[in-house]
Amino acid sequence: MALERTLSIIKPDAAERNLVGRILSRFEENGFRIVAMKMLRLNQAQAEGFYAEHQGKEFFAPLVEYMMSAPIVVLVLEKENAIKDYRTLIGTTNPETAAEGTIRKEFAESQRRNSVHGSDSAESAAREIAYFFVESEISPR
Ligand code: UDP
Repeated sequence: MALERTLSIIKPDAAERNLVGRILSRFEENGFRIVAMKMLRLNQAQAEGFYAEHQGKEFFAPLVEYMMSAPIVVLVLEKENAIKDYRTLIGTTNPETAAEGTIRKEFAESQRRNSVHGSDSAESAAREIAYFFVESEISPR
């Protein structure tokens, strides 16, 4: 298995409810190394650009509004097999179907307000990491 990096976001609903520390602990407890991290608030263009693949879908506008509604924490996480293992750790998009013990099952409020984001492929991880970080902001191991 290769050492991989994935892009993680602690989304507005979680940051608003003071869940940042608990969610960061879950990442670390599950073997993910935080190699970059910042808190920011997305503007409309940034939120639309990040979720460009969903443009045209009925949930796009409310998703963009939600992502702008409060600060978020964006992180680069590193681990063997990080991309797939992180998706397993967070659970399915809809918390109602997420497995017990997953972050979305424990913390998410709804299919939209689902507390965390994670890259779904190597291609998305590369694009999403570059969306928020320049290489010099990512700590070498
Ligand atoms: N989303 C939504 N309504 C839907 C599907 C998705 O509001 O019916 C939001 C939700 O916040 C989700 C994000 O759009 O996390 C991106 O959707 P995607 O299908 O890529 O899910 P993810 O990869 O985040 O599990």
